[in-house]
Amino acid sequence: MSRVFNFSAGPSMLPESVLNRAAAEMLNYKGSGQSVMEMSHRSKIYESIINEAQQIFREVLGIPDNYKVLFLQGGASTQFAAIPLNFMNGSKKADYVLSGQFSTKAYKEALKFGGDVAVAGSSKDKNFSYIPKLTRADFRPDADYAYICFNNTIYGTTYKYIPDTGDVPLMADVSSCFLSEPMDVSKFGLIYGGAQKNIGPAGLTVVIVREDLLGNCPENVPTMLDYKVMADNDSMYNTPPCWSIYVCKLVLEWIRDLGGLEAMKLHNEKKASILYDYLDTSKMFIAPVVKEDRSMMNVTFVTESDELNKKFVADATEAGFVNLKGHRSVGGMRASIYNAMPIEGVEKLVDFMAKFEKSN
Ligand SMILES: *Cc1c(COP(=O)(O)O)cnc(C)c1O
Repeated sequence: MSRVFNFSAGPSMLPESVLNRAAAEMLNYKGSGQSVMEMSHRSKIYESIINEAQQIFREVLGIPDNYKVLFLQGGASTQFAAIPLNFMNGSKKADYVLSGQFSTKAYKEALKFGGDVAVAGSSKDKNFSYIPKLTRADFRPDADYAYICFNNTIYGTTYKYIPDTGDVPLMADVSSCFLSEPMDVSKFGLIYGGAQKNIGPAGLTVVIVREDLLGNCPENVPTMLDYKVMADNDSMYNTPPCWSIYVCKLVLEWIRDLGGLEAMKLHNEKKASILYDYLDTSKMFIAPVVKEDRSMMNVTFVTESDELNKKFVADATEAGFVNLKGHRSVGGMRASIYNAMPIEGVEKLVDFMAKFEKSN
């Protein structure tokens, strides 16, 4: 079977050149006589891999010097707990914006720690089909932090602006839009994401955090959840997710060699507009998200009937367009078109959708 066009929300497609390189280096990494999977994480050779990964991450995303880059495990979901544990330690107030399922989960996790956790905005009234318009007045000026999910993977919405929270550090889950376009890291206290959406294999979670916010964890916070410990040990307090970091480095090199995040943005805008332009003219498929809040990464759409949705997903799978079924909580369809999805994949999907529309 030839390779399919994989529209999965994550784990998802990786660039073919990255997979080929990983394969070529699998048995004997740069003459070391070992696979990266087999190396001691304390070896010189592995050290050079993790250091380079961090360096290229800084270069590609333009991370300011006063931010730490942490390579962690536990997935994005572990950060739902780590963030309140690390930062809800001053006024013990935290303000959350509920724009979908993941931010709601993060909010519920924060409620477990006994602080004053408030909802600063929500789009639940319309099934999360838009992004709340927030102003500084929506955030408490004495909050320890504010929290948003920047791109809502399940609903297909994204922030087109960075909310103004004044002096309150803004923490953002960027799992499904990490490295998809340039981002001004200096506007955030912390950004983080699971790698498996857009920057590598599952098992790696990247946290980028402003240095001055670290070091206020209470004594009883588990060591592994204390960002300061991870920062002080260059993500090597214990064994890091070695292999995933290595593949992430290959992905970063791929982005850099294509022209960096400006080039990535053009590539992603082009794919998204091909798909949304078709959806806007289609008489069968409807894009439920408010136009101005549409995600460039996760494109959701539906037909008028569940039956037709099902038939579409089945026929598409047959034709080599896989994982187009929407998340179980919303139904319909979702095409995740992350960095590694080629333009050809979206063009061919649209051709297929047009044919399906004609014959059904
Ligand atoms: C997938 C996803 C998560 C959950 O990630 P895990 O690594 O599986 O914990 C959290 N937030 C967003 C925005 C996601 O897309």
